Parts: sequence; C-alpha cells; structure tokens
Amino acid sequence: MSLVNLVGLTPADLEDLAVDLGASRYRGRQIATWLYRKRATSLDAMTDLPKDFRATLAQRAFIGLPTVDRVTASLDGSRKLVLRLEDEALVSAVLMPDDDRLTLCLSTQVGCGYGCTFCLTGTMGLTRNLAAGEIVGPLLVANGLLPEDGRVTHLVFMGMGEPLANYAALVAAIRIITDARLGLGYSPRRVTVSTVGLVTGIDRLGREGLRVNLAISLHAATDEVRGRLMPVNRSWNLAALMAAVRRYPLAPRQRVFFEYVMLAGVNDSDEDARALARLLRGVRAKVNLIPFNDWEGSGFERPALARIVAFQALLIKAGVTTTVRWSKGEDIGAACGQLWEPVPA
Ligand code: SAH
Ligand code: SF4
Repeated sequence: MSLVNLVGLTPADLEDLAVDLGASRYRGRQIATWLYRKRATSLDAMTDLPKDFRATLAQRAFIGLPTVDRVTASLDGSRKLVLRLEDEALVSAVLMPDDDRLTLCLSTQVGCGYGCTFCLTGTMGLTRNLAAGEIVGPLLVANGLLPEDGRVTHLVFMGMGEPLANYAALVAAIRIITDARLGLGYSPRRVTVSTVGLVTGIDRLGREGLRVNLAISLHAATDEVRGRLMPVNRSWNLAALMAAVRRYPLAPRQRVFFEYVMLAGVNDSDEDARALARLLRGVRAKVNLIPFNDWEGSGFERPALARIVAFQALLIKAGVTTTVRWSKGEDIGAACGQLWEPVPA
C-alpha cells in the first residue's frame, strides 16, 4: 500500500485518518496541530502522540514537503523559491515584502493549459495538477525559512497554473490555510484566488463559503480584444464572466480585484479605459493595472509610463479604484507571467 502524505490533508481528513487507524478523532487534531501550527517535519517530533500510534501512523503515512532547489533574491527585496516535488517537477513560489506585509505567491499547477498569449507560463502547457500538499507545502517551507518571529502574512494564488482548474486541491489547501483552530489560521481576507475566468469554478468557489478574495484576470474590456489574448474567452465571454462576478458573495467592504496587464497598442487606449469603466459599472471592483513584463519572443511591449498613468487617471475619473501594480522580481524571472521552469523529461 502506498503511503499517504499528511501534508495536504485537511484537519477533518486527519481526524478521519486517525479513526481509520483505530484511534480517536482527537489524535487527528493533534496531528493537524503538529503539522500546520507547530511546523513538525517528522512523525517523531509529534511527542504527545502515543508511541504505538506513531508506529501505526508511520506504516500508513509520511510528511512530504518539497525540497528547496534554489532561492534567488531580487534587488527589490522579493525572493523566488524554486521547489522540487517528489516527481522532480519544479514549481515556484515568490515572497514579496511590502511595508508590513509579506505576501507569498503560490502555484497550483505545473505549467498551465490556458495559453494566454502574453504569459510565459502559458507556453509551458499543462504538465499536471498539484496535490493539496504540494500547494501548501511551499507555504510551510517559506514560513520555515523565515526567522522565528516572521511569517508570511498574505497569500495570493497567482503563481503557475490556473487555480480553479485544480478545484478540489485548491479548496483543501485553502481550508488548511484558513482553519483558525487546527490549520494555519490565516484570515480568508488575506487569501486571494486569481482566475483566468472559469465561470463554473467562480460559482462553485462562491458557494464553498470560504470568503476568500476573488481576482479576475480581465486584460481587456471587449470580447474582440480579450478573445485574441485569452483563448478562454471563447468558452466564457465577458458577459458570462461578469454575471459570475456579480453572483460572487462579498462581505460588506470586500471587493473583487481585476487584473489588467497593460500591452502597448493592444489594450491601453483611452477608449479601452472607457470600455473598462463601463464594464465595471455597478461592480464593487478594484483594478490592478500590471505593466507587461516582457519575455523573449513574447511579441508584446509595455506601454510608456505616461500612457499607463493616463489610463489609470481615466479609470479613477470614472469612479473606478485603480492602482498600478509594478511586479516584483522582474530581474529574477519572478514577476507576473514570467514563471517558467523546465519540465522533467
Ligand atoms: N492563471 C491564473 C493565476 C495566475 S495569476 C490567472 O491567470 O489569473 C498571474 C497574473 O499575471 C495573471 O493576472 C496574468 O494574467 C498576469 N500575467 C501573465 N503574464 C504576464 C506578463 N507577461 N506580464 C504581466 N502580467 C502577466
Ligand atoms: Fe495560465 Fe494564468 Fe498564464 Fe493564462 S495568465 S496562461 S491562465 S497562468
């Protein structure tokens, strides 16, 4: 029988496992606490579990964390962790300090199958989904690399892959991350799921009741332009996407984030800004303009700074909260849309 990885099991799963092994649910809660709150990296560290139970557990389960392949530091303070998984696949996680925040950008798949034309990850194609443990593993590793009193404060699912295309593992990971008693205890408001616009996934996530933030990779305000940039727009066009956004349950002051990568001559005109403002009318929205991060052979260019600022000004004038998000880690290939790792043969 193959061993199960404890990392990635939700506290409820761990209670079930304990019962399976003939122990009480309480033992499962102890394991969850050791794994997610006390950063245990071996079963032997779980000293308040009876010795014979630990032995039974070791026959069925192990603690599997990714290993650190390399860490590269950017001049802007961000750090890219490249992590090696059990099958040698590599995924990245990016640590981004900002004032009193320390945000970790997590991946959900090896590569991505959605093929957005401006995204380097898209050129990798999809190799496979990450398991829940491979999604939270990098967070546990990152927290472990920080000084005793340091901890990641915010999480964004904006790394490699499309989170909502790996739905079950994403939700398990979020439950582990947000469980206040037995998990990592992050407030759901500090967790953001970014999607290319999978309508059924957005609806499901809304019904899940996790109360995490939703970010939509919009990038264009007309079907004509969006369809050229993002093949997914042929499955769910802007009308379908915006209807799903309007259905997504929001807490009183919560907003939906819209990411808009700025591509010179493609989606950055005054008319594009006006179309965007019209599209977002009546939506509690916050727009993040992301100046395009170039990669070799992309065929796109970043607009001049003055154009980006003018675009932002038009949106603000139309009443849309808009910030320009300069990506972190551009110099180390860690910026939005630059994540790429070779796929093992
Ligand atoms: N697949 C999900 C999660 C990845 S998030 C999604 O697309 O939402 C990564 C963000 O960076 C997305 O908003 C993506 O559109 C954006 N992005 C991709 N390539 C980029 C590039 N070259 N420059 C700037 N942003 C880019
Ligand atoms: Fe995939 Fe997101 Fe990149 Fe599109 S932008 S190819 S969905 S990772």
